[in-house]
Amino acid sequence: MILAATEENISKAAAVIRAGGLVAFPTETVYGLGANALSDSAVRSIYAVKERPRTNPLIVHISEFSALSTVALVDNPTTKQQLDALKQFWPGPLSVVLPKQPGISAIASAGLDTVAVRVPAHPCSLAIIRASGVPIAAPSANAFAAISPTTAQHVADSLGDKIDLIIDGGPCRVGLESTVLSLVDSPPRLLRPGAVTKEQLSQVLGEVSSGHVHGEAETSQLSPGLLKRHYAPRTPLRFRANFDESNLPERTGLISFGEPDNRTAFYRVLVLPEDDLSEAARNLFQALHELDHANLDLILVDRCEESGIGAAIMDRLNRAVDNDVDQ
Ligand code: AMP
Ligand code: MG
Repeated sequence: MILAATEENISKAAAVIRAGGLVAFPTETVYGLGANALSDSAVRSIYAVKERPRTNPLIVHISEFSALSTVALVDNPTTKQQLDALKQFWPGPLSVVLPKQPGISAIASAGLDTVAVRVPAHPCSLAIIRASGVPIAAPSANAFAAISPTTAQHVADSLGDKIDLIIDGGPCRVGLESTVLSLVDSPPRLLRPGAVTKEQLSQVLGEVSSGHVHGEAETSQLSPGLLKRHYAPRTPLRFRANFDESNLPERTGLISFGEPDNRTAFYRVLVLPEDDLSEAARNLFQALHELDHANLDLILVDRCEESGIGAAIMDRLNRAVDNDVDQ
């Protein structure tokens, strides 16, 4: 079921994709669940396996910038200029939303006339896309609204018995899903923060908007990453700052940025570095997975600085915590 990322196994993975099957594979962001983006039935099975609402579009992965026109319409002069400026981030953790080529499955784009596309920076994903010879639609390889996988084992735990193959390329380097930027909005609009930061995008594009200009409901449909509770563990998760620590359940876990002042108050403590938020991002989902499997009553988590990649970390944490509970 889990195979090492050897040349032979990459050929196997490509054959599964070509035959309409599902392969989980590593990218630099998180593990993806890939299917042939040109095939409605292959893409439909991604939604079925993840139990993901069909209204939530997927990201289509290609192996090089020059293949972009096979997925999206890129003739508009402004779009061309913008793409030229964004080229430096590819391969990498940036997805752009563009008008869709008709050949791409309408299921992958949830019936929208736009498509999100990126070139991943992981040699293994690139090899699978090249060997399969088709663009690959791939959301994160986890059940809908659960924590994204950053190791092959995370994928196996969540979807192992439902998919054809898992390729193991080790833990993901970035650890958070890609930045999603819409180029069909003017100015370009940040739909999901990620490792390519809003600051970096503004530097090359000028003004970049973000936020909920279309209203919460519509935005959620466009962007599953924007749903209210997402990236969530099964164990109750709350922000530490909002919690009365004199009244902790016995088995309380803590994810803190920097060494906590009262470590002994907690049953389990995982420390993420507060002075290296890229490293913190890399380990965040692993920490959530680990504590979610530790039989805890409650997980508390710190907030971090919201600049640079910290904005993406806080975005995920804000969606992962139990918002329904009065805090
Ligand atoms: P996931 O595949 O689970 O990482 O989530 C896919 C992400 O892609 C969502 O958060 C959306 O923001 C984005 N996305 C994909 N296609 C589109 C599209 N056509 N328009 C807007 N956002 C999209
Ligand atoms: Mg996802």
